[in-house]
Amino acid sequence: MTATPQVELFVPKVPGLPAAAPQPGSGAAAKRLGVLPMPSIEWNKQVEKETAYLYERVKTVVPPVEWPFFAPYVSAINRLKKERNAVILAHNYQTPEIYNCVADFVGDSLQLAKEAAKTKADIIIQGGVHFMAETSKLLNPDKVVLIPDIRAGCSLASSITGADVRLLRERYPGVPVVTYVNTSADVKAESDICCTSSNAVKVVESFGVDRVICIPDEYLARWVATQTKVKIIAWKGHCEVHERFTAAELRKFRESDPGVQILAHPECPPDVIEEADFTGSTSAMINFVKDKRPKKVVMVTECSMADNVSSETPGVEFIRPCNLCPHMKRITLPKILDSLVYLREEVEIDPAIADRARRAVERMVQLKS
Ligand code: SF4
Repeated sequence: MTATPQVELFVPKVPGLPAAAPQPGSGAAAKRLGVLPMPSIEWNKQVEKETAYLYERVKTVVPPVEWPFFAPYVSAINRLKKERNAVILAHNYQTPEIYNCVADFVGDSLQLAKEAAKTKADIIIQGGVHFMAETSKLLNPDKVVLIPDIRAGCSLASSITGADVRLLRERYPGVPVVTYVNTSADVKAESDICCTSSNAVKVVESFGVDRVICIPDEYLARWVATQTKVKIIAWKGHCEVHERFTAAELRKFRESDPGVQILAHPECPPDVIEEADFTGSTSAMINFVKDKRPKKVVMVTECSMADNVSSETPGVEFIRPCNLCPHMKRITLPKILDSLVYLREEVEIDPAIADRARRAVERMVQLKS
């Protein structure tokens, strides 16, 4: 698009996921607001009737034989949400029964962060991974923020620490640090501003300088470098879901149907993005399918996306290369119900880092389009 991309890659010394230990069940919110009796989870005529309109939304992706398992949870969750004045924010990678049947808002990280900032609910339940719940807590610190499984991590978030960012600043003094939201609050606190895959180019260019540190996703940073003249200093962190796609796999899809539209997420490796017809965030991909209504489409991203979008776009055929995110899939209907009943697991952020991390997220949210 613009000039030759300029990227300098910084390789972390200690990449990898730290061990995530489950936390004890009841926290401060449970003591303050009390736990509720666990509702009956029984499939009966009343549940069938109550949830029939919701099954209509997922009937193309949830077989009838599975609905009697999901429906009693859907019914109980929707009832307890009202009782608790709670809201469920679900990422596009959540399973169809969560995305379509219990979520109040769905979207990509940026859209969910904006909803978290403005919600009037008392409790936010994050259908997503831990860094997303932290972002909700940063933007609305007076709310109780719950993540149904505290172990729902992210390979990108665990590829970098706040200490790593301080080292980068020492190595590149004066160079602004743009941090992908897929990071811990500790890392955000050391950053000038956050970005998501939908606004990364705009955020990088917002400084008006010729060099920017863009961390921790190497492939997102490399893609940004193809869209701007700014030189990018990148970190070698990867999404374990998107890095598994290959260009050869995409070429096979195109060989079998030359008319197919291939949409890739910018967390994919550069040669995969090269093969795609369109590159964008999950919300950009959804908009592409809704606006252009291609006959056949491949979404090169997490598995549940195609299921979720397909129920909203009849007539579009989805080819489903299926790479699941194990962290996103830790969130299930039974765990969401558990969160509502026992108010767990509550997300708290060390006050020493919360203010600085919040500033970096708020700068991004407030950036004019
Ligand atoms: S899909 Fe990738 S970036 Fe998203 S939560 Fe899973 S590991 Fe992290």
